[in-house]
Amino acid sequence: MQMDLSPQLRNEIWEWLIPQLEQHYANPKNVAVAPPLHQSEIRDFVRLPTETENLSPKEALNHVLTGLNNYLVHTSHPAYFGLFNPRASFAGILADVLTALYNPQMAAWSHAPFAAEVEQFMIEQIGQKMGYAVNSIDGNFTSGGQEANLTAVLCALTHHFPKIGYTGIRQLDKQPVLYCSEESHHSVMRAAMVTGIGLDFVRKISTTETSEISLSALEEQINADIANGLHPCLLVACMGATGTGAIDPIEELADIAQKYQLWLHADGAYGGALALSETHKKYIKGIERADSITFDAHKWLSVPMGAGMFITKHTSILSATFRIFADYMPKETMAEEIIDPFAHSIQWSRRFIGLKVYLSWLFYGWKGWEELIDEQMRKGDFLKEKLMEKGWVLKNHSPLPIACFMPAEKVEDTYPHETVQKVIRDGKAWISVYSVQKKPTIRACVTNYLTEETDIQDLVNTLETVR
Ligand SMILES: *Cc1c(COP(=O)(O)O)cnc(C)c1O
Repeated sequence: MQMDLSPQLRNEIWEWLIPQLEQHYANPKNVAVAPPLHQSEIRDFVRLPTETENLSPKEALNHVLTGLNNYLVHTSHPAYFGLFNPRASFAGILADVLTALYNPQMAAWSHAPFAAEVEQFMIEQIGQKMGYAVNSIDGNFTSGGQEANLTAVLCALTHHFPKIGYTGIRQLDKQPVLYCSEESHHSVMRAAMVTGIGLDFVRKISTTETSEISLSALEEQINADIANGLHPCLLVACMGATGTGAIDPIEELADIAQKYQLWLHADGAYGGALALSETHKKYIKGIERADSITFDAHKWLSVPMGAGMFITKHTSILSATFRIFADYMPKETMAEEIIDPFAHSIQWSRRFIGLKVYLSWLFYGWKGWEELIDEQMRKGDFLKEKLMEKGWVLKNHSPLPIACFMPAEKVEDTYPHETVQKVIRDGKAWISVYSVQKKPTIRACVTNYLTEETDIQDLVNTLETVR
């Protein structure tokens, strides 16, 4: 079996494939934003090739490209106004190609020192942008916000119960409790499920009319839990909630965390990017008081999927949480400051995730990222203005480029869902439904750096037509 194929055939494939990829990348509007989702048709397509057919590499690639073109929501399309799934930047794509080809094994520092040092450098840099002191930053790259939030829960548990890794959760004399707002991402709930804390001990605190965590309800709940003999452990702050973009008052939450000795985790998977903009970082001022932060480079920084970050100012907590003795792991270096990534994170064999961020930084720089964020903030304001001009009413109150809106006139509860379906079926844009204060609304978010004012104007026109 010649897995590598011949050099000649490889060259032929590269030369044939690259122009096709460029064609797709350069013309994001040539495809419908969303395909019809006919499961049986897609299943049949996937099962179409049979082993006996023996496709040539080009035929195989053609099959796969057809599947990718026809059966995906194209988040790379400028009229994708959906969740935080931006188009993948060119630097990010190149980095993923290089990562696949060199395939560094990042479990042990000594196997991939360049990769390990690149990741540590980017963690330090982003940590400083968040406001952490230079010499007090640790962290790791994660598959995404889910793994970063799970890491936060594990660190908080270890911080409160240093022996938990050995004794297990059943030996604790008090039940740990986790606090977050109703707007928190469900990955926080999942983290409680898989760590053994249990969903019943996640307190989803009610929110104010601007969808921020209610401070009085929070303190009341903490006091009630203490009175009931429970152990308040972790407080999660939304730094840009996924639905409404709500940003919790982090300074006040930091005071409460201090008062009750809670680990404060700032979930800035999306909104954390504001730290890179001189103009807009004010919205998350105080994030540096958090014990740890989640930040997803695959959201606002537009690198391909699978690039989260967990950053903390507690430099020994990750080792305390994850170190395990494995004598088969290579240890060619004994230097003090060497940290083997496997002893420091949930993952073991690790993909070189940080390269997408490092190469983007080399290509675009802090200035490029800042422009990206400032431009999207401006376009978000443009979207909100245009909607209001047409008499739509905004239901969320976030500075982030997210609009949750409804018509001024009274409509059925099914209205948002029906409207969104009509817009999506049209294939020209993708928007979604999100419930604000338990009432469904239409949600549109500027998340693609190619989205122009004309795309926004088109969306508003389409909404008017449907209306
Ligand atoms: C997207 C998101 C997550 C989950 O991140 P993944 O990268 O999808 O794992 C967590 N928190 C917030 C606020 C998010 O927006």
